[in-house]
Amino acid sequence: MDFDLSSEHELFRDTVRAFAVERVAPAAEELDRESRFPYELVAEMAELGLMGIPFPEELGGAGGDTLAYAIAVEELARIDSSVAITLAAHTSLGTMPIYLFGSDEQKQRWIPPLARGERLAAFGLTEPGAGSDAGATRTTATLRGDSWIVNGSKVFITNAGTDITRCVTITALTGEGEISNLVIENGTPGYEISAPVRKLGWKASDTRALSFSDCAVPVGNLIGTRGQGFHQFLQILDGGRISVAAMGVGVAQGAYDLAYAYAKERHQFGRPISSFQAIQFKLADMATEIEASRGLVWKAAWLKDRGRPFAREAAMAKLYTGELSNRAVNASLQIHGGYGFTDEFAISRLYRDQKILEIGEGTNEVQRMVIARHLGLP
Ligand SMILES: Cc1cc2nc3c(=O)[nH]c(=O)nc-3n(C[C@H](O)[C@H](O)[C@H](O)COP(=O)(O)OP(=O)(O)OC[C@H]3O[C@@H](n4cnc5c(N)ncnc54)[C@H](O)[C@@H]3O)c2cc1C
Repeated sequence: MDFDLSSEHELFRDTVRAFAVERVAPAAEELDRESRFPYELVAEMAELGLMGIPFPEELGGAGGDTLAYAIAVEELARIDSSVAITLAAHTSLGTMPIYLFGSDEQKQRWIPPLARGERLAAFGLTEPGAGSDAGATRTTATLRGDSWIVNGSKVFITNAGTDITRCVTITALTGEGEISNLVIENGTPGYEISAPVRKLGWKASDTRALSFSDCAVPVGNLIGTRGQGFHQFLQILDGGRISVAAMGVGVAQGAYDLAYAYAKERHQFGRPISSFQAIQFKLADMATEIEASRGLVWKAAWLKDRGRPFAREAAMAKLYTGELSNRAVNASLQIHGGYGFTDEFAISRLYRDQKILEIGEGTNEVQRMVIARHLGLP
C-alpha cells in the first residue's frame, strides 16, 4: 500500500489550492451575496486546464485521472462550493455522457470546447415527477423524419442557462419504457430555460428549470445506443458521486480550517477558546472524520482509475461525506458563536452551501439504497 500522492498529484493539488486561496476566496462572499455566476473564475479555471481534467488531450482535456479530478473539486469546495459545483457538474454530468457513450464523431463535435472550458455543459435528469425515482422520466422524444421532437420539462439543472452554456444532455422516453440520452443545444427553438432558481446555498451556481415544446433535435444528437439511457445515467451518477463526495470533504475541511483559526484567535474567560476541551474535542472529531472521508473518496477514485467496480465505494463516500460535512459545518459554526451566524464570517456561507450535498446526485436515503443493493440485500 502507498498512501502518498504522486509528485504530479501533489503539484496539481498545490496549484488548485493556490488558485482557490488567491483567486476564489476574495470573490466568494460577493458572488454569493449577489447570486452572480463566476464567469471570470471559470475563464481562469479553463486557462489552468481545470474544466476538462479527466478528458484526453486530443479532445482538449488535461488527460488527468479521477484522483486528480477529486483533488481539484475538494480544493475548490474547501473555499467555495458554487465554484466547485460549476466545475464538477460541467465535468462529470455535462461532458462525461458524451465522452463515455458518444460516437467518435459526436466526441469530436461536442467535447473540445467543453473540455477547454470555453463552453459549459449540463445534464438534465431530474423532472418534477422524477427525482429519486429518476427512471420515471416523462419527457418524450419522438422520431419524426430526421429529428427527435422533444416535449417535457426538467428541474434543478446546474449550468444549463449561463451565457457560455453550449448544451444539455437530457434523458427522454424514446419509446414505451425506453429511455435514451439526447444532446440539446442551447438556442434550439422550442427549448426554454427559466430564470435562475433562488436557493438556500450554491447561490453563485446556475440552476434552472427547462421546458421543451415540440423542440426538434437532429437525429444524430442521440448519445450511444437508443434505449440505453437508463444504464447510461446510472453510470454517470456513479462517477458523479465521487466528485460530490470530494465536495463533502472540501466543505468539511474548509469548515475545520475556519473553526481552527477562529478558536485560536477568540478569547473568553481570559484564554483562547481553543484551550477549552469542549472546543478541542469538536476539532479532534472533525479532523478524524475528514481523514476517514478523504480515504473513502480517494479509494473510490483509485478503483475507477484502475477500471475496477467502484459504484459501492462511490455511494459510501457520497453518503459518509454528505453527513460528515453536515456535522462539520454545524460544529464549526458553533465554535464561531454568534459571529458565525452573521454574513461577515465565511462559515455562514459554508453552512448554507452544505445541505445540498445530502440531496443532489442521490439523497442520503438513495445512497443507502444503492449500498444495500451492493451488499446483496433484496
Ligand atoms: C441546487 C441543485 C442542483 C441540482 N442539479 C441537478 C442537475 O444538474 N441535474 C439533475 O438532473 N438534477 C439536479 N438536481 C436534482 C437533484 O438531483 C434532486 O433534487 C435529487 O435527486 C432528489 O430528488 P427530489 O428533489 O425530487 O426529491 P424526492 O425524490 O422527491 O425525495 C424527497 C425525499 O423522499 C426521500 N425518498 C424518495 N424516495 C425514497 C425511497 N424509495 N426510500 C426512502 N426515501 C425516499 C428522499 O430521500 C428525500 O428525502 C439538483 C438539485 C438542486 C437542489
